Amino acid sequence: MQNPDEAVDVACRSCHRLERWGSSDAPEVLTPGGARRTAMPVLAAWETVRACLEGEGRVVGACEACAQPLVAPSSSALAPHPWPFDTPEGVLTFDGVGALSDAEGSVSIERADERIRRANPTLPFWKRVRPGRDLFQATVLTLMLGPLLVFVLALMSLSLFVRPAVKEWRELLQSVATALGLM
Ligand SMILES: [Zn+2]
Repeated sequence: MQNPDEAVDVACRSCHRLERWGSSDAPEVLTPGGARRTAMPVLAAWETVRACLEGEGRVVGACEACAQPLVAPSSSALAPHPWPFDTPEGVLTFDGVGALSDAEGSVSIERADERIRRANPTLPFWKRVRPGRDLFQATVLTLMLGPLLVFVLALMSLSLFVRPAVKEWRELLQSVATALGLM
């Protein structure tokens, strides 16, 4: 266990917000995060909780920027923050450190995974697209592909229609290469 007075870095795995929690009451925000948002918040939170159950940290709060779990190192002495999941068979609660339970008692990771996934089906790709950022990125990529396509088409038409000139081009390139001392 860590000294309770020591500062601990606490991170949101979803939006990459990073805070430093010291003994003073207000956490120091190292990286505000918040730009990355998941379209499937329950499944994203479950992925984080599952990693914690497998020993990769403990949940100590909710991210101020995106409401996903905030994770501290497993060795930290920070108070755990329970994380509930609504499922048709009742609420499943992660204790923040290493146990999952419902009204009837402890629940295995596999069983919880099944229940949470059934209650939150994965959205198809097109429903996960967020209009602002994703469409902008797609547009930029398409625009970048345009010039490449034009270049490839130009090369193809050159080789198809200007075939007689290819030999001369090759000779020209060879003489340039020779001049540069490459060949
Ligand atoms: Zn976040």
